[in-house]
Amino acid sequence: MNLRKIAPLAGLVLLFALPLLPVPEFWITQLNYIGLFALVSAGLVLLTGVGGLTSFGQAAFVGLGAYTTAVLCTHYALSPWLGLLVGLAITAVVALMLALLTLRMSGHYLPLATIAWALSLNYTMANMEFLGKYDGIQGLPPIYFLGISLQDGRAIYYLIWVIALLAAWGLRNLLDSRPGRAIRALNGATTMAEAMGVSTFRYKVVIFVLAALLASVSGWLFAHLQRTVNPSPFGLKMGIEYLFMAVVGGVGTVWGAFVGAGVFKIIEDQLKEILPALLGSSGNFEIIVLGIVLVLIIKYAPKGIWPYATAALARWFPAEPRQRDWQDAAPLAARPKPAPKELLLDVDKVRKQFGGLVAVNDVSFQIHVGEIIGLIGPNGAGKSTTFNLISGVLPLSSGNVSFRGQAIGGKPSREIARSGMSRTFQHVKMIADMTVLENVALGGYLRSSKDTVQALLRLDREEEKRLFAEAERQLQRIGMGEQMFELAGNLALGPQRLMEIARALCTDPALLLLDEPAAGLRHKEKQALGDVLRQLRQEGMSVLLVEHDMEFVMGLTDRIVVMEFGTKLIEGTPEVIQASPIVRAAYLGTEH
Ligand code: ADP
Ligand code: MG
Repeated sequence: MNLRKIAPLAGLVLLFALPLLPVPEFWITQLNYIGLFALVSAGLVLLTGVGGLTSFGQAAFVGLGAYTTAVLCTHYALSPWLGLLVGLAITAVVALMLALLTLRMSGHYLPLATIAWALSLNYTMANMEFLGKYDGIQGLPPIYFLGISLQDGRAIYYLIWVIALLAAWGLRNLLDSRPGRAIRALNGATTMAEAMGVSTFRYKVVIFVLAALLASVSGWLFAHLQRTVNPSPFGLKMGIEYLFMAVVGGVGTVWGAFVGAGVFKIIEDQLKEILPALLGSSGNFEIIVLGIVLVLIIKYAPKGIWPYATAALARWFPAEPRQRDWQDAAPLAARPKPAPKELLLDVDKVRKQFGGLVAVNDVSFQIHVGEIIGLIGPNGAGKSTTFNLISGVLPLSSGNVSFRGQAIGGKPSREIARSGMSRTFQHVKMIADMTVLENVALGGYLRSSKDTVQALLRLDREEEKRLFAEAERQLQRIGMGEQMFELAGNLALGPQRLMEIARALCTDPALLLLDEPAAGLRHKEKQALGDVLRQLRQEGMSVLLVEHDMEFVMGLTDRIVVMEFGTKLIEGTPEVIQASPIVRAAYLGTEH
């Protein structure tokens, strides 16, 4: 057995044995708070670290959970467990409303909005007669579990840590799943995820609500641990401190939340003791020191402590590669193929204006089933913009596009993906810290269905195997089977482009849009890519291809559309295009 397997098990045994050992009450209390804080900051790992949505307002959701149970247990003498359920329900409704109101905001507006509603929720708590104003509510009962009172710190310890570890288990499951890959795309790869059929807004809402629910559970435990609630632990300062924990521990990893909570709690408490003694006066000096610690960590371990520590450990105890356990998985469903020679794509006078610039000027062309069409033209001719118009990444200024007989102009890219069109991007769009295999599996999003709750509970393993089997099959086809376990961000540009093609193929498309697929490939790799595309054509796939390598284009395509300054110059077979003086003039930049 190696340390990687023993260490977590030993940690777990120690964690649950601690209250039985003669550990001073002080440390049990510390660990109780660390568990509570870790729950909240684990939610922030998902929301901020993975999803890229910064929230300063999590403490308000902690307060929502705490106050709900306080009111129900004291005013109405209900059971704390009912307090938990109602608290979760109220938090879910409030979080959902806030999410729908604020998550469409971009950039810095979202963090500002979280500050705004955190303050208003906190003021509400502090100013309602019903909630005891600044004094809060006293006399909460302890939680009973199977008739056992969890009044004692050593008793509630078990409840806190079972919940915290269950949350960690669930979140780690989620991040390694179909919805998890979509969530991991939220921070910087939304265009790509939408093109793979993901509703990115929906997942933003999902992680926002999940993070709020974790905070709410923490508040429920906190209320019954303290047996009293008041507004001050649920203010903006605490909201900032939760974020601090997540950042310090490692904002992208679930265990980072636990490390961050531990480091924060211990440093803060020690400082509260040491600093006044050292400085001879009392005050909130620990805030200054915490600030300095934060700056140092961001400078020397910018990903946080946990990733830094695991990277150091991995040097001595390398991770075992993921088990390849999907060989026998049933194939994913395939979509019905269009009939040969059928009109597949009809681009009808599409136009795109960026302010005064007409990037695409009433361009029309058609693709029939089983054709490879080249789209060529000098830089800035409008090829990529045309791709974006067809695939729904950009809205049309005017014109129509129909695909398989259906008008798709004006539809969002995820709807168009659903109808069987897939694409790659001129500037590779991927999730750099995911493996090649996982990136490609994102292409299978629409061919699979397991969602957040199933992923949290690990009820998605069969479908995951099918997704990974399909992803591996597409990678093998494109000649990248060897690299499937590498991190996508570590690949050279050429293989990254091939990975994008495999991802697009994983969607089981009828039409493939490839924007400069051969750029960055070596001669042999280009030949192999050409062979793959010819093979796909034989299988009834159609391809629209932007490419600068003329030898590649001429040898592969059935017809070529030439663009210049946003306008279609000419369309014809490779022979016609090669012989055309107009095309030559466009490329050489001379008048004809
Ligand atoms: P190509 O792919 O043929 O090199 P593009 O379609 O990328 O050309 O660009 C066509 C023209 O549209 C260029 O002049 C480019 O600067 C402009 N353009 C492309 N995208 C945008 C945008 N989002 N906003 C403004 N102008 C753009
Ligand atoms: Mg381009």
